[in-house]
Amino acid sequence: MRNWYMDYLAPTSVEEAVGALAAQPDARVFAGATDLIPQIRAGRPEPGLLIDLKRIDRCTTVTKTDTGWVVGAATPTSRLTEDPDFSSTLPGLSEAAGLIGSDQIQNRSSLGGNLCNASPAADSVPAMLVNEVRAVVAGGNGTRTLPVGDITTGPGKTSLADDEFIVEFEIDAPPPNTGDAYLRMIPRTEMDIAVVGAGAQITLDADGNCAAARIALGAVAPTALRVADAEAALVGNPINDDTLAAVAAAASAACNPIDDKRGTIAYRKQVAGVLAKRAVKLAADRAAGTNANGAH
Ligand SMILES: Cc1cc2nc3c(=O)[nH]c(=O)nc-3n(C[C@H](O)[C@H](O)[C@H](O)COP(=O)(O)OP(=O)(O)OC[C@H]3O[C@@H](n4cnc5c(N)ncnc54)[C@H](O)[C@@H]3O)c2cc1C
Repeated sequence: MRNWYMDYLAPTSVEEAVGALAAQPDARVFAGATDLIPQIRAGRPEPGLLIDLKRIDRCTTVTKTDTGWVVGAATPTSRLTEDPDFSSTLPGLSEAAGLIGSDQIQNRSSLGGNLCNASPAADSVPAMLVNEVRAVVAGGNGTRTLPVGDITTGPGKTSLADDEFIVEFEIDAPPPNTGDAYLRMIPRTEMDIAVVGAGAQITLDADGNCAAARIALGAVAPTALRVADAEAALVGNPINDDTLAAVAAAASAACNPIDDKRGTIAYRKQVAGVLAKRAVKLAADRAAGTNANGAH
């Protein structure tokens, strides 16, 4: 029998949420609660106050801007898969969002929760890393904007202060001739945690060579990571068997995975190379079909 009481607050402004977080150190924000409720039921954490972000307009609004998109951090991920404009412009990020759990889960789950739960295997994070998504963070000291890669610091850990939360994500529209992709390996066909995830964003030049490359891996280290050596192997070069082999080797070498029942270290390293290669190829194929607006 638990001996603590939990209050619930549904603020309608960022300022109200920040004030509530600052006033009660054991408060926790939530969006879909698809991670948080199972964790509370399992005994940890034991928040004294749950702050629901879903009634704050900025946290649940998806806006197309002149330069890209602003996605509220608590927006259900189903909105990102159902929006044809978003999905065709950022297919890799949209597909990553569409891999989270089931339809029911995606009607609750959010990018903010997926990131801040800080699971190394979170599916949207490699896709956000390759799109260099920025998080707008509100807290007692005001608002700051930082790269998504600066948010998670280890399993279950973030760099956010106790009185901070992510309000929204800023996502640049991809440049012309650019495509992105996210692929994951799971033992089942759905509803499973990635053994490895790989994201890529590729820009091609007029000759079809790689002009820019971003490659990220999930579930193979304490946090999702960008693979600089794999990116360097592509830039300035054609995307062919030789450069894809170099991508695979660099991705396998960048891994620092754990050994568990879902995959050994050697298996995860091997799969990371294969998936990185495939994600690059898919992103490059999408880039080759890109029109001047970056849409497909
Ligand atoms: C059946 C099932 C299947 C799942 N399958 C997958 C899967 O395939 N892939 C996958 O990646 N995940 C999966 N998950 C995990 C989960 O659904 C995702 O991580 C989801 O994106 C979490 O979003 P949420 O809004 O529900 O987070 P919440 O549970 O609301 O929050 C998660 C954590 O983030 C914090 N948080 C939430 N929003 C913010 C914010 N804006 N700022 C700061 N901190 C915040 C909360 O305090 C909490 O610590 C699954 C979960 C279930 C129950």
